[in-house]
Amino acid sequence: MIPGTQIISVNGRAIQDFLDWEFLSADDELIVETRQPDGEDVIYEIERPEGEALGVALEPPNVRRCANRCEFCFIEGLPQGLRRNLYIRDDDYRLSFTYGNFATLSNVKEKDIQRILEYRLSPLYVSVHATNWEARKVLLNNPRVPDIVAQLTRLAQGGIQFHSQMVIVPGLNDGDVLEESLTDLWNLGDAVLSAAVVPVGLTQFSHLYTGDPLSRDKARALLDHVERWSDKAVAERGETWVFGSDELYLLAGKELPGPEHYGEFAQIENGIGSITSLRMRVADGLEDLPRLDGLRVGVVTGTATSGMMPDLLRSLTRATGGEFKLIALENSLFGPTITTAGLLVGADIRRALAGRNDIDIALIPAETLNDDRVFLDDVSFDELRDELPVPVYPSYDFIDVLSSEQLAVAA
Ligand code: SF4
Repeated sequence: MIPGTQIISVNGRAIQDFLDWEFLSADDELIVETRQPDGEDVIYEIERPEGEALGVALEPPNVRRCANRCEFCFIEGLPQGLRRNLYIRDDDYRLSFTYGNFATLSNVKEKDIQRILEYRLSPLYVSVHATNWEARKVLLNNPRVPDIVAQLTRLAQGGIQFHSQMVIVPGLNDGDVLEESLTDLWNLGDAVLSAAVVPVGLTQFSHLYTGDPLSRDKARALLDHVERWSDKAVAERGETWVFGSDELYLLAGKELPGPEHYGEFAQIENGIGSITSLRMRVADGLEDLPRLDGLRVGVVTGTATSGMMPDLLRSLTRATGGEFKLIALENSLFGPTITTAGLLVGADIRRALAGRNDIDIALIPAETLNDDRVFLDDVSFDELRDELPVPVYPSYDFIDVLSSEQLAVAA
């Protein structure tokens, strides 16, 4: 097929999007009806050798936009002037299945439900926030949201499973509302694979939500609530099932649980167990590290994780002989309430590392960069690296960079 060809149907079924193509083109014998860029209709009869890909690359899908206006929406809290795709409020069950993006299901129509069931799009990642219908309407700022319990029940009866999350806005969906949410999700049985409880994250630009961020006392009360449920889940089902996010533990000032708590780390992308996973990867990688005696390593991180870093850095010093210096940064773009290392921007790193003559290399969180190696504030990593006085390496877990050969040469 030539670029720009429109795929109209496969084996007589109309193609709406990448999902239809993915599922309907799985057969070995295909009749593909197409419209060429010049308007000519062409039908391909394809017999595919077993296991071979068709080699068709689809255009990126049109993302389904969100119909809500959540009180706590992070996108509403973005400053002006960032690249356009950062402002897209997607709420797309197809991306939930394909990439693990969370979706509220509030824009899902009957025909979408039919597709989820027919294609068995499972597991889905669902932003529940509250199962109480009235509370959910307030949280999502959308009086037309469907009843999430009815939606999940219907899908569960069709064999669909879910990972769920509740972003907690103090006073709106903690306390009794959270108790009701966890009870409803628990009662869906095996269909709900996990439930995450995440504190609301507000930037200095958030303007919808006018309440307070989570105080330490409220974070502790929330974590106690979560732990009562996780104790019950372990006792009755043999798995933790409900998890407080890493940020919730940090806000509450409580030690994070060990790896056994997180099982398969199903919601690690959602900040559930990522610190514990980092500790595990460092501990596992220490013995393979080369000696780095005398090498002075600056480690850039956000303020949220700065407290747990000294122990990790000491273990790296013991294993390598290198000298590790913690560089904890406030986020200049989103403000001091956003403390996550992965949301630091190029300007923060430039400011922190310019003129640092007391280190030989710097490690920065790899999560700060997108696939094009660009920070959230559009600063290019390659340009930044060229202007800084020390070599800079994006790193996920220190071990990835410290064990690399190029670094051993630098040392
Ligand atoms: S569902 Fe809420 S938080 Fe998510 S994009 Fe929409 S408004 Fe923002």
